[in-house]
Amino acid sequence: MTTEYQVRLDRSACDGVFACLVRDDRFVEDSDGLATIDAGDDGRHRDPNANGEELVTFTDERLPAAEQAARACPVDAIEVLVEGDDE
Ligand code: SF4
Repeated sequence: MTTEYQVRLDRSACDGVFACLVRDDRFVEDSDGLATIDAGDDGRHRDPNANGEELVTFTDERLPAAEQAARACPVDAIEVLVEGDDE
């Protein structure tokens, strides 16, 4: 089931607990010790802005993993936004 969704990571809120990494391996540790999103080949529109926020659009079957990572984050730094209906 392919779904288009966006994953938003607020790096200013992230405290490097890395609960997200074990739920979804698209979250990786960056050189500054905080999480970052590995957009990979499937990701598009990575737009880190001045606040350190990352927003990546994915179209794949991995929405559940992203949602698990968002739920696991103790500081709610991850938000998953479903853009469209299932295809
Ligand atoms: S679980 Fe949340 S606070 Fe921890 S590394 Fe991931 S985004 Fe950052």
